[in-house]
Amino acid sequence: MIRRPHKVKVGYKTYELRAMTVKEQCLCHGKWGFTNHGEAILLFDEKVDKREVANTVLHEVFHAIRHVSQGPVENEEAIVIAMTDGLCNVMRDNPALFEWILQELK
Ligand SMILES: [Zn+2]
Repeated sequence: MIRRPHKVKVGYKTYELRAMTVKEQCLCHGKWGFTNHGEAILLFDEKVDKREVANTVLHEVFHAIRHVSQGPVENEEAIVIAMTDGLCNVMRDNPALFEWILQELK
């Protein structure tokens, strides 16, 4: 079993990756994830199903990519949701493709 990393490098920025504290859960008003770009922290709610945690982490990574690349913010949430859900499905259905992509990127 591969353990969850504690850091995520997104371009020039390295985000801390960790579960929300109870206080942070309250501040996020029930959201399963949140990214603080200023402090470079990527948070997720660990109390949901493991697939939802993985989806949430990928969702927040897409927000971080948008931030680092200074991409357009119009419709950001809708685009991030569509890309995350689509990529999660493609990754789950095509694991060999992603192993190959990772190999080629090294
Ligand atoms: Zn979002």
